[in-house]
Amino acid sequence: MAQVLTDNYIIKGQKLKQLKSQVINCDLCEELVKSRTQVVSGYGDFTAKVLIVGEAPGRLGADITGIPFTRDRSGVFLQKMLNKVGLNVSEPASEKPDLKGVFITNIVKCNPRNPDDTNRSPTNPEIKNCMEYLSKEIEIIKPELIVTLGLPASKFILGDNFEGKNFGKIKKMQRFSVLPLWHPAFVIRGGGTQRMNEQKYSKFFKQIKKFI
Ligand code: URA
Repeated sequence: MAQVLTDNYIIKGQKLKQLKSQVINCDLCEELVKSRTQVVSGYGDFTAKVLIVGEAPGRLGADITGIPFTRDRSGVFLQKMLNKVGLNVSEPASEKPDLKGVFITNIVKCNPRNPDDTNRSPTNPEIKNCMEYLSKEIEIIKPELIVTLGLPASKFILGDNFEGKNFGKIKKMQRFSVLPLWHPAFVIRGGGTQRMNEQKYSKFFKQIKKFI
């Protein structure tokens, strides 16, 4: 059994490495090639049962570190949530987090920016261009649960099954379940009319932990 687990880890690791080398010089989106510092591939536990999918690398975080959800406020907040339930066993501010049972990626692998240099959401054509890479990550990881963070990722993964009122509710799909959650940046900003705050948000991570 242990040997099977080890083989699985090695094979998945090799496939993800191969995928990373294919993505690293991607030039499908003219604007993103100009705005990005680097292409940011998924990161974490190769044998994860849970895949977390964000929007795009942040200008002050993953775009610089090369690791999704690190350094910027959203990143450190998400890592704190994972750390509280033992899915990240390093400090939340670590820029090489030691993730257990989770793999983290984004629907778009490059940082999209406005002309004034602030972050912007990826456009539909950019999401479409990057779709193949995310599909391959899903194919390799084979998660039991996909946690989508924010509207673009939730709409993308759930497609026609997405409704705003579904945030926080697990939806069973054919190949995996999906838990659409509010983006950490939204929670940090006060969590809208639901007043989604750190305490309420952390309960979803207890639920996620049960999948592992
Ligand atoms: N960092 C990421 O990697 N993704 C986000 O969606 C936000 C910050």
